[in-house]
Amino acid sequence: GKSMGSYDYLIKLMLIGDSGVGKSSLLLRFSDDSFDMNCTPTIGIDFKLRTIELDGKKIKLQLLDTAGQERFKTITTAHYRNAMGILLVYDITNEQSFKNIEEWLKNIEKHTSQPVNKILIGNKTDLGAQRKVSTEEGRKLAEQLNMAFYETSAKDKSMVDEAFFALTRDIKKRL
Ligand code: GDP
Repeated sequence: GKSMGSYDYLIKLMLIGDSGVGKSSLLLRFSDDSFDMNCTPTIGIDFKLRTIELDGKKIKLQLLDTAGQERFKTITTAHYRNAMGILLVYDITNEQSFKNIEEWLKNIEKHTSQPVNKILIGNKTDLGAQRKVSTEEGRKLAEQLNMAFYETSAKDKSMVDEAFFALTRDIKKRL
């Protein structure tokens, strides 16, 4: 039998996008099921873990937090190393964060050589009254980029698990 803590697959995921879009919050929500209204950026490369079960397989997810380094545009080869999936995140109340998705995509392409599955995330759907990017605009971009698209709220937990599971399922297909 398998010992405790064993797994069938180890999958490394990352969240990329502008500072403030909610990457740390989504990660925390997914890994620990908690939400911190005042999360302060930390220094260094931070991992969180969650083990999920998909189609009878135990998948250990290693979730990388860029910990504020996106601010300095210093997300580089070292961060992307071994990443198998990336959640590209924007904030639906921040148009610039949406426009910057294509820049982040270029950054990913520049710094990765391995195959990486990507998914587009519009976060903060609980702030509907302040929405600046429509669902349709998000969907269109995702279609252009040939990615799945989810709108999430790290605050009320809406669609967070769904997004992470969808990306993981895509990756598992090619393993
Ligand atoms: P990061 O810089 O991309 O890691 O963003 P953070 O996770 O640090 O979040 C930035 C700010 O947005 C924090 O004040 C969070 O509490 C807030 N935030 C993150 N996600 C959500 C969300 O889904 N809804 C709302 N209302 N606030 C959020």
